[in-house]
Amino acid sequence: MPGGEGVAGAQQSRNRLLALLSAHDRSLILNQSAPVKFEAREVLYHSDDAMPFCYLVESGVISLMTILSDGQPAEVGLVGPEGMVGLSPLMGSNHSPGEAIVQLAGAGQRIRADALKRLFETHEGIRAAILKFVQARTVQISQTVVCNSRHDTQQRVARWLLAVDSRSAGATVTVTQESLAMILGVRRQQVSISAAALQKAGFITYQHGVIEVTDLAGLKSAACECFGVVEREYERLLA
Ligand SMILES: [Zn+2]
Repeated sequence: MPGGEGVAGAQQSRNRLLALLSAHDRSLILNQSAPVKFEAREVLYHSDDAMPFCYLVESGVISLMTILSDGQPAEVGLVGPEGMVGLSPLMGSNHSPGEAIVQLAGAGQRIRADALKRLFETHEGIRAAILKFVQARTVQISQTVVCNSRHDTQQRVARWLLAVDSRSAGATVTVTQESLAMILGVRRQQVSISAAALQKAGFITYQHGVIEVTDLAGLKSAACECFGVVEREYERLLA
């Protein structure tokens, strides 16, 4: 497998962070990157792992989880083709604060964290683009905190489905009720009731752990404001 050497600098990218960069800055990253596939349920980092690589996502969805001392996880963010996973090394920490797990299979570019850190420190355009993404992620985390404490399970299920759907380019979302309950930090039965209500309303179909969004506008009407708040911030910062 070639290591991405010689990738044309002018090449467009499906990754929005890379797309923000000048062709020159993009080639600096791509020339040191290698294509990578993300398999469903693959763990890119465990909690407290060393982080030798950063990942620029081109397709698929990565779930960022915080793991409590009793082993219980809860999702604190999602990253898709708009961004990257592995910010900590750029911020001066070499250990993962949580777990990064592939929620929806896809592909991207993998670059050594020390190589990207050097580019981050020496190239203003690269630094500015990544800092915009950091700001967008900060808003996403803040809104997740508020959402988890203020909004009901059905709104949160709808919010999560919209967030994944907006990153999945129409791919069918595969998630069991157990996984969704874990992601949202609620009981499985609450997820079951919420999914049934959303299905009854005609917004989704949900069979054998496979969810399809059948009415996007309807699903938006069932979600809390949080999805829109975060999406607007991403649009503003990463357009
Ligand atoms: Zn909310």
